[in-house]
Amino acid sequence: MKFDVLTLFPEQIKTNICESITGRAVKKGVISLNAVNIRDFCTNSYGKIDDTVYGGGTGLLIYSEPVYNCWKSLFEKEEDRPYTVYVSPKGSVLNQKKAIELSKKKRVCIICGHYEGIDSRVIDTICDEEISIGDYVLTGGELAACVIIDSVSRMIDGVLPNEDAFTNESHMGGVLEAPSYTMPSNWNGMAVPDVLLSGNDAAIEEHRRIASLVETWVKRPDMLDKIEVTESEWQKMLAMRRTL
Ligand code: SAM
Repeated sequence: MKFDVLTLFPEQIKTNICESITGRAVKKGVISLNAVNIRDFCTNSYGKIDDTVYGGGTGLLIYSEPVYNCWKSLFEKEEDRPYTVYVSPKGSVLNQKKAIELSKKKRVCIICGHYEGIDSRVIDTICDEEISIGDYVLTGGELAACVIIDSVSRMIDGVLPNEDAFTNESHMGGVLEAPSYTMPSNWNGMAVPDVLLSGNDAAIEEHRRIASLVETWVKRPDMLDKIEVTESEWQKMLAMRRTL
């Protein structure tokens, strides 16, 4: 899968993505990252990228022209055009469903604003969608672009060791992952549930299923409104919660 990022700060993107798991995926060629500096496409000789906002107000807005020229230079032919996203606090908020949807695209171009953002006309011309990473305002879109690339990449074949590594995680089935533990089995007087040490795969799976529902109930009760929980599951959840 290919990611192109149009930004004023390409190093910020490369520094974040070319580390750890996503960094190895880039090295292996499982994902490709092309971070391009919008400033290189300035139409004036002195590199000015932004100006005051028509109608007044604080801050500066990035011109349409360099953003458009940058995007066009990468995707000259119609058939090269990638799915183009503007990261913006006005967009629909990123969630696992959206990340899965994006992971099915061959090529995604992410445009990062900075300062007051980018002239709305170029966004309307080239972007398929605006995505926000939460209801707050960042100084620039670079961290948002990295969040999208990270959450999408881990579902691309070859990035994680196998599909289980991401299919059994929080949010994948509309619930949170069950609490998890590693050595030692008793730490500071807190013992791991016996069933997890039993070697009984069916019992472990059942425990994890109910523990995952309890975890969701305790930490994100709003998520339970969107899934069906049977009467028998509620009984088991209640019983497990009493033991916590
Ligand atoms: N003036 C804009 C507004 O009020 O909607 C905010 C501009 S913000 C200071 C600068 C840039 O950061 C935006 O153009 C966008 O690319 C990025 N950004 C800020 N908050 C974001 C968020 N929650 N999600 C994604 N991108 C964000």
